[in-house]
Amino acid sequence: MNITYKSTRGAESGISASRAIIKGLSEDGGLFVPEQLTGFDFTMKELTDMDYRETAYRVMRLLLSDFSEQELRGCIEKAYDSKFDTPELAPLVKRGDRFFLELFHGKTIAFKDMALSILPHLLTCSMKKNGMKEKVVILTATSGDTGKAALAGFSDVEGTQIIVFYPKGGVSRIQELQMVTEKGKNTKVIGVNGNFDDCQTGVKEIFGNRVLKQKLKEKGYVFSSANSINIGRLIPQIAYYVWAYGGLLKSGEIKENDKVNFTVPTGNFGNILAAYYAKRMGLPVHKLICASNENNVLFDFFHTGIYDKNREFILTSSPSMDILISSNLERLIYHIAGDEPEKTRELMLSLANNGRYEISDVMKTGLSDFYSAYAKEEEVFETIRKIYEEDGYVIDTHTAVAACAAQKYRNEEEDPCKNVIVSTASPFKFAGSVVRAMGLKVSSDDDFVIAEKLSDTAKIDIPNAVREIRNADILHNTICDPSEMEEQVIQTL
Ligand SMILES: *Cc1c(COP(=O)(O)O)cnc(C)c1O
Repeated sequence: MNITYKSTRGAESGISASRAIIKGLSEDGGLFVPEQLTGFDFTMKELTDMDYRETAYRVMRLLLSDFSEQELRGCIEKAYDSKFDTPELAPLVKRGDRFFLELFHGKTIAFKDMALSILPHLLTCSMKKNGMKEKVVILTATSGDTGKAALAGFSDVEGTQIIVFYPKGGVSRIQELQMVTEKGKNTKVIGVNGNFDDCQTGVKEIFGNRVLKQKLKEKGYVFSSANSINIGRLIPQIAYYVWAYGGLLKSGEIKENDKVNFTVPTGNFGNILAAYYAKRMGLPVHKLICASNENNVLFDFFHTGIYDKNREFILTSSPSMDILISSNLERLIYHIAGDEPEKTRELMLSLANNGRYEISDVMKTGLSDFYSAYAKEEEVFETIRKIYEEDGYVIDTHTAVAACAAQKYRNEEEDPCKNVIVSTASPFKFAGSVVRAMGLKVSSDDDFVIAEKLSDTAKIDIPNAVREIRNADILHNTICDPSEMEEQVIQTL
């Protein structure tokens, strides 16, 4: 079946997957969504014989239907190789009676590696397929993890240039160091005096600026995005939900076609949206548990049908989820509105103008696939400590938000389904908070000393990604205000 893409706001349709990957965002400001969805052409039982790459191929080809087998397998092989520190790529581990899907074995020890290792290859392949010779300029706003994962993915990939904006002071020291020590010759990292939403809004405005776009096109550049709004990010993420299901089946934890739940620590709503697509394609999923931190806009939305970003922005110990506008939610809105661009456009306009919108009662019924809970800071710390004490397993702050939400679901609902907690970062990425939660005393607040303490106590090796940056040179030191972001892009190019 040939799958094409259309904008959630209606202006573009019939776009091939490769064109949608190149464009990133639609010209009308909407996000690309599949116009048709096909079911899996394999049984769940067949999954138990597939490795990660095969699973990824079998899933992705259903949505990237204008890629040839050779093209897609080529991208998968280049992406999912020894860059990952385990041959399984995304191990499903059982600790006590909890299941964790560890998505942090890539280059930057966080889940965004799963998609950002493959996006550059999907993108350069898409350019070739469409006969485009321009240089692709990747503009990315990051709340911490996307930045380094995108830099690592695109670093020195021919025909690309990448510019990353991050909120100065809004990311962890290790996250910042990972970015500003990036060596790729085609990379530029800029700190913005503002929060993640300022960065994201700035990038969206640059994308929407037709005059600038035309000027740069004349110079041989086209913009694209590595943000999770790109379908080239979203589609690879569907694969690991299918993979996790195969893992549960293989280990005898479930029988074929038993339903399972996934609990996803959520920020921009990309990761959990991939799970939603997996379910719509036929993966036996009961509930998708959307876990938020104290920035609980989504929790309120799922409970009231009102999305309202007019509230205090809270800096938490899970910074990659400190988000007030979850961009990918627009895709869910479009689907629960009955694939209706008019309605979506109206609600998004209301969000842009008033910072809020309310969905209809009919649309609310479309939220029944989801359950939502949020974790307060003290609950996050308590969860880390409890799981360490009970099972000797150390989780990071984002994963702890999910583990806490999973526990709340368990306390509130009688549900026999197995529940997989999606583990989005290595504890070493947020070692300061993790060590504090575990009640360990450390003599210094240096992140590297803390990492050593964590390693000694929990008997786990410090990942390469952390060791590497310890003595690396700072190569990027530009800081700007949100209003200067466009100027920075022009200067870089
Ligand atoms: C980005 C990120 C999230 C949130 O994922 P979304 O797809 O934005 O919802 C959660 N945890 C970590 C560690 C992340 O980097």
